[in-house]
Parts: sequence; structure tokens; C-alpha cells
Amino acid sequence: MTPEVAAASVPAMVLERYGLTARCHRLPGENANYEIQTGQARFVLKIAGDGLDDSAELEQAVVAQIVGSLPGLGLPNLVPDCDGQLATTFDSEGGTYSARLLEFVEGQAWLDAGSPSEALQRSFGEFLARLTASLEGFDHRGAHRTHHWDLARAAQHRGLVANIVDPDDARVVEHAFQQFAAAQPRLAAFRHSVIHGDVNHENVLVTAGKVTGLLDFGDCLWNPTICELAIALAYMMMDVDDPVGLAINVVLAYDAKRPLDDDELAVLFSLICGRLCVTICTAAWRRTIDPNHPTWFATEKPAWKLLKKLAAVTPLAFENRLREAIDRPVHDTGATREELTNRRRIRISAALSVAYDEPIKMIRGQGQYLIDDRGRPFLDMVNNVCHVGHCHPHVVAAGQRQMAILNTNSRYLYDGLTDYADRLSATLPAALEVCFLVNSGSEANELALRLASLHTGNRDFVVVDGAYHGHSSRLIEASPYKFMGRGGTGVAADWVHVVPIADGYRGEFKGQGPAAGVAYGNEVGKIVQQLGRPIAGFLSESLLSCGGQVIPPADYFKTAYRHVRAAGGVCIADEVQVGFGRVGTHFWAFEQQGVIPDIVVMGKPIGNGHPLSAVVTTRAIADSFENGMEFFSTFGGNPVSCAIGQAVLDVMENEQLQEHALNVGNRLRDGLAALMKRHKLIGDVRGTGLFVGMELVRDRETLEPADREAEALVNRLRQQGILLSVDGPLHNVIKIKPPMVLTADDVDMVVRSIDRELLRWA
Ligand code: PMP
Repeated sequence: MTPEVAAASVPAMVLERYGLTARCHRLPGENANYEIQTGQARFVLKIAGDGLDDSAELEQAVVAQIVGSLPGLGLPNLVPDCDGQLATTFDSEGGTYSARLLEFVEGQAWLDAGSPSEALQRSFGEFLARLTASLEGFDHRGAHRTHHWDLARAAQHRGLVANIVDPDDARVVEHAFQQFAAAQPRLAAFRHSVIHGDVNHENVLVTAGKVTGLLDFGDCLWNPTICELAIALAYMMMDVDDPVGLAINVVLAYDAKRPLDDDELAVLFSLICGRLCVTICTAAWRRTIDPNHPTWFATEKPAWKLLKKLAAVTPLAFENRLREAIDRPVHDTGATREELTNRRRIRISAALSVAYDEPIKMIRGQGQYLIDDRGRPFLDMVNNVCHVGHCHPHVVAAGQRQMAILNTNSRYLYDGLTDYADRLSATLPAALEVCFLVNSGSEANELALRLASLHTGNRDFVVVDGAYHGHSSRLIEASPYKFMGRGGTGVAADWVHVVPIADGYRGEFKGQGPAAGVAYGNEVGKIVQQLGRPIAGFLSESLLSCGGQVIPPADYFKTAYRHVRAAGGVCIADEVQVGFGRVGTHFWAFEQQGVIPDIVVMGKPIGNGHPLSAVVTTRAIADSFENGMEFFSTFGGNPVSCAIGQAVLDVMENEQLQEHALNVGNRLRDGLAALMKRHKLIGDVRGTGLFVGMELVRDRETLEPADREAEALVNRLRQQGILLSVDGPLHNVIKIKPPMVLTADDVDMVVRSIDRELLRWA
């Protein structure tokens, strides 16, 4: 915030510190700047707070660097005070201030020069390229800093969206901010240099249709070089009829002098959005401090106007127009959504449904985002397969490397298989020591059933209502989600026995607190007793995902496992959805209940999207399987899969994702739980780590499921660039299980967005 000193004290200070007898008057603008006029010369005095302004030296060095490369350009050279200091300190009204005196630069601000001609736009592009080139190779220790307007870190201000009152406006900014946030992590790898950092329409001076001066080096810092162009465009595109046309003209001239990288071109749109979002959000936040401030809101309106215009432009179309203009090949995004939908109808079974009524075509994955064919990032809140983030570079590199060296099958010896099996079993209780590596969750569950049957000599299995375990014939029979669902037989096969979901929110033992776990566990006992013969096993997820993101109450598994083992069965934990640190507190979800299964089934996250799955069991069960029949899975445990599996575990460790999931997951649950006070529709928020469910009900007493509302909410959030899905037997639970790299900022944005959308039903 800028300091205000008494204007009357300025002339005396100027005389004392600079030996100038001058007339002084305050200049308009955000900063405390004064015009200083002596008989012969004009200056600008800039006042900063606290006497602690350390950027004068940096600014002077930057100006000195540019002067040589851009002769004739008017620049605010610093005038030393009587002691030879670039920044002078003085006391006024009890405070200590720092001030700098700059030579006055003649020219008219771009803003006041009217609508910029095409020639001026191009000359500006050329000027920017020369400015940038002049600072490349230059460095200054003072530039390695950050400040509020540091575009490379603009996502830190996303929380300020909460200050935007109008929900439709907030949606626009939220979406644009996400556009930026998805690009921000890429910037670290970009070329960097010292940039001016605020080449805006007040700081650029124009004379006779040419750029003749540049003011205000107070924001300069070491940044991705492209940020200079992005910031400049964000301002120059305001208040023109054809902002994209202006951007094309500027980029065309810029690129001719100083060619842009493909990566720089790819993020330009997102960076412009980011700058506009910071301008808009800062204004909204400042309004809460001083709504009548004379200068804080000057660019707010034009920034809004531009952002709303840009909301109608797709990022990829923007990039392609720039690429076309500078003669680079445009990105081909392949067939249109309509074409693909039609072609799918012919070649792909309609039994395989597509998400959303209006399907989205994705062209890239990156971290917690999926990018569509328009260049828009969607926050993936539901894909637990890309566990350590979509296309994680470490995982990608491991797969690529191994694929180029050796990929064979597990009948040969190679280090990868045993190394990986060692590492995987090290994550489990010691008794689970023999690994089978296969290719999908279904294949792994199939194998688990075979292991259990062979070991026990029995054929009956107990499964949980609402569960899904895989798509093979036997697993469809073991999945109430399927056989009781649409197209299913509607009855359990004779070897399948279904117990209720251990649901503390609805169901027979709801509201019974800790006693519910034992009560639900005893249901397993009841069913095996009714059966009256020994069973092969109990197949259950450790947390129920398709069953509605349910966390079974404490002691459920202890009780259930006791009954299963008493009936001669083995206990199979399906950790396909919930394993690998997702629950935050532990690596495996079953550990939360203090039980040790006999067989653990893993899938989805294990290979971050590569088809890999595993069954890990005890020596005794593995021995029973060795009955003479060969076991072989062609692709299972091949060297590439093992390398990828290892890489996933590396990332889990290196990025401490389990701990991260706990923290971010707690933040998410707290955020959603807080919404329950404002929205009656939210009946329950539950979860652990990044496995979370939000159950919607029309009535908190009757628990009438709000299925249509859940569907509508998911569709509304998709429009906001957030991917979620609905699940649970009553189709009213919002399922949340994002890649583990989800950030606290993402969480806050999702909570704000859900809040905003639910206001529609309030
Ligand atoms: N078990 C559970 C709990 C699952 O959710 C799934 C898949 N949704 C499977 C097994 C089957 O895995 P896959 O699709 O890899 O065969």
C-alpha cells in the first residue's frame, strides 16, 4: 500500500535532500508520485513507505542496461540526493519515508493517446521485443524477489475470488484463474530474465504514433521472460474493439525481432487471463478496505470487459491464430467431438458410455488437470488412476526408458520383477509376501477368488451390497452393483452372499456410532451361519467406493474378518480404488481398521494409468495355488510395467503424497462440512485423505436422496471446469477421489464453486 505524506512537506524535503527549489504537485495514479518543477527542469518524486525501499539500485541498474540498447527511449533516470544516494530518506508527520527523484520523461501515456493504430500496435510489439532483448543476459541480485504483481505466482491470489460478490462474475474469474493455474507450474522451465513487469498503458509513452518512453520500474523482477509480453498485452488489449487482433499485431512484430518459443506461445493466453484475474480480484479485495479510494479501481472495469470477451475465445483458437499469423503450423486437434461421437457409435459398443450429455474431448493430461480440445483445463476431481498426476514426468520417463531397453515376459529372469515385488510387499504387513502381477483390477480380483477357493477348498463368497469388483463373468456375479443394477439378473448367484453396506449415515445401524461397526460386522456372521457350510472368503473394498464413498465404522472389519475366518474363509481386501496412500493416514485403507487381510488386490493407481495390477498374499495361500496348473499372464509384471510401478512409488515418496493427501483431504472435508451449515441439501460429508463423498438429500430427516440435484451439480461444475461424478446405490453421492497432487488452492476453489452452485437450490 502506498504511503501518503503531507503534500505541504514535499517542497521543503526536495530542497533539503536535492537542493532544488521547486513547485510540487501530486500526480494521479496509484503511487504517491509528485511532479517537481524547477525553473529549468521537471522531475518525478516517488515516495515509498518505511524508509526501506531497496529496489532503487535495481531500478537504476535496469534503466542503465536498457539505455544502451534502446537509444532515444525516454527513461526515468534516477537523480542522486545531496549525499549521492539514489534513495533518500526523510521524516514527515512522525513517519520515516524513502523517496526517489527521477528525470521527467516527455510523451503521452498510451492510455491517453486514443485507439492505437495497427502501426502503433506493431511498433509496440517491436519495442517490447527490443526491451526484452536488452535485458536478456542481464541480472541483478535485487531482481530475485517477488511481489503482489509477480505474474509467475499469480495463482497465490486465487482465494481473493471470494471477494467478488456477483456469482456469475465470480464464475468467470474462477474459470479464468484456473486457466492460469494450470499453466503456472510450466513456467519454471521457461527462459527467464529480468523484466520491467508492468509495461501497462499508463507506463508506456507515445509520441507521433511511436513508443518513446517507458516509466515505472518499481515492479521489475526476475521472471519467465514471456510474462513481460503477457502483462503488456493484458493492458493493451483492454478497451480495444478487437483485442485478439491487437495481440496478433503485437506478437507478429515481437516475434519477428525475437522469436517466441512454442511453449511461450502456448501459455500466453493463460498468462493474460492470470494478469486480468489478479487485477480484478485485487480490486474486489481492496474494495473491502476502502471502496472510495481514488486510484485503486482504475483498471478494474476495462479488465472485466476484456476478461469477459476472452471467456468467449478458446485458448487453443487464440494460440492457433497467433501461430498462423507468425507462420508456424497450427495445432491439429483431430476430429471434432461430433465426428468422434458418430464414429464411436459405429465402432465402439454403446454399452461403454461416455461421461456427460455433451461429451468432452481431451487432448492432454497434466498433473491434476485434463486439457480439452479447446485448450481448457479441467480439474480432475475424480480420477484416482492418475494417482501421482496425469503424465507425471518421472513415471513417463521410467516407462519410456524401459520400453527402449527390454520388454519381455515373466518367464525370464530380470531385475525389475523381483525388485518391484520386494518394494510392493515392503508396503504391506510382513505376512503378505507373495506377489502376482497382472494387468487390471478385474484380472487381479479374479485371481484373488481363485486363490481363496483353492486354498480353502470352498466356493461360497460373501460380498458387500453396492460393490463392484470387475467385469469378468465371475466378478459380475460377485458385484451387486452390476447384477442388481440395470441389465443385471437381479438375483445373486448361488455362490454369492450379500451383506449390507456398513453405512453409518443410512442403513440399519445408522446413528449408532461405534456400535455400528460391530453390528454391521455381525451381518457377515449371520449370513455364514444361515449358509451352514464353510465359505471360501469375504471380498470387500476397505472403503466402499461404488457403494457411495462409505467409510465403514470402526471395528467393522475386525468383526467381519473374525466371522469369515471362523467359517473357514479368507479375507480379501480390494484396494483397487483406495490403496496407495490415498486415505492419508496409512498406505493401505485396511490399516485404518487394524486388520490384516489374507489377500490384497491392487489396481488403478498402481501404474498411474499403465495397465498394471497385483495380488499380494500369504505364503500359505500362495502354496495352495501351486497345484500343478501353470499360472501365466502374458503382460503381467513385464519389465516396463515394473519400471512404471517403481516410478509411481518413487513419486509417492519424493513428493510425500500420502501426507499431502491427508492435509489437503482434511481441508476439503472441513470446507465441505462448513457448507453443510449453509446448504441443507448436503446431508453428509465423509471421507479420509483424498477419498471423499458428499451425499445430497432433499430432507435431512427422511434422507430422501437428491439424485437429480447431484447430477445437476456435477453438470454445473463441469461448466466451471471441474470434473466430478455421482455414485452410490441411490445416485446421490458426489464422488471425490482426485489425483493426489491436488493442491490446497484447488480445494478452496472447488469448495467455493460448490457453494456458489448450491446457492441455486437455497
Ligand atoms: N475393484 C474395484 C473396487 C474397482 O473400482 C474396479 C474398477 N472400477 C475394479 C476392481 C476393476 O478394475 P479394472 O477396471 O481395472 O478391471
